[in-house]
Amino acid sequence: MERVVTANELAAIADEAMRTGRTVVGPVRRKERYFYEAVSRGADLALDFNYCVYSPRSFFLPSSETVLSYSIGTKEVKAAPATGGTPLLIMGVHPCDCNAVALLDAVFGSGVPDDHYLARRKDSIVVAVDCHGPCDQTAFCRDMGGNEAKEGFDVMLTPLNGGKGQAAERYLAAAATERGKELLAYNKVGKAPANADKDAAEKFREARNANFKKKLPYEAEKLPEILDRSYNSLLWQVTAKRCYSCGSCNLVCPTCYCFTVKDVPDLSCASGRRVREWDGCQLQDFATVAGGHNFRPESSSRLRHRIFRKGKWIKEQQGRMGCVGCGRCDRACTAKISVVEIYTQLAEER
Ligand code: SF4
Ligand code: SF4
Repeated sequence: MERVVTANELAAIADEAMRTGRTVVGPVRRKERYFYEAVSRGADLALDFNYCVYSPRSFFLPSSETVLSYSIGTKEVKAAPATGGTPLLIMGVHPCDCNAVALLDAVFGSGVPDDHYLARRKDSIVVAVDCHGPCDQTAFCRDMGGNEAKEGFDVMLTPLNGGKGQAAERYLAAAATERGKELLAYNKVGKAPANADKDAAEKFREARNANFKKKLPYEAEKLPEILDRSYNSLLWQVTAKRCYSCGSCNLVCPTCYCFTVKDVPDLSCASGRRVREWDGCQLQDFATVAGGHNFRPESSSRLRHRIFRKGKWIKEQQGRMGCVGCGRCDRACTAKISVVEIYTQLAEER
């Protein structure tokens, strides 16, 4: 199902979603930067954003959440799971982040399904907006296949006018799921695309494809093989000398999903909450286990672990790249440690 919709109609869809009880989240400009935030008016959504500092991950996997509450009686322990929340409409998600959402869906939907994550995803609608080109010089989404999305969204918006950094007034809205079709049909907005609209969408895609350039000197499929032969490279130690183990790269990454779980008892210790919080593999104690042993005490082993996860191990587990090339980790790193540089230097090593 395809409709041509105006920016005002998209704002009206957001307003209607709020009226019917959904939280609407999207890119909001704060000085020179954009952040995903809940809005109170559809008109506040800045769909012409370059990139959001953080990804939409926290709306599906909060940085801290109660997963159950418990009480300890004399004969039994009672536990009540806490799932659900306000249904979401997330409007303005770029293809890289859609690919990251698709990865999180695969991770939390496989093995023992994660009811907390899945309940949030089931109640959410994701409206993606396509990019004119790379959002800045750190993005290498073209290499990682993150610049085009086939999953992780319900409706894709293709701008029909405007340009990079210029708000479009009209979009081609293509529903990718039943939820997406329902969203467009329920709101009764827009009109069927004319041939001129389809041509404009095609021109946009051609220009977009020309704008995305490769940054790696090889195809990303080779990355697992390159990493395999680089496990003992000196690069890990040399690069990690600059690393502060601050975890900022984990914090901003749309595909990081590691968490820790702890019990928070009340003062009587007769009841409490089990809380899940984000964890980060670059933090010093990430791999510390009971008894105090740390499997990755050096920052070099933690850096290597992150890069292997993103470039090899997640792909082997899930069949999808663990990195979508959004460039957020490079932007966030005060030590200027760059994933693209690491991937490039490893390939140059003999
Ligand atoms: S953001 Fe940079 S300095 Fe901080 S942990 Fe990551 S690589 Fe190290
Ligand atoms: S590793 Fe860096 S570039 Fe890759 S998805 Fe995470 S933040 Fe983006």
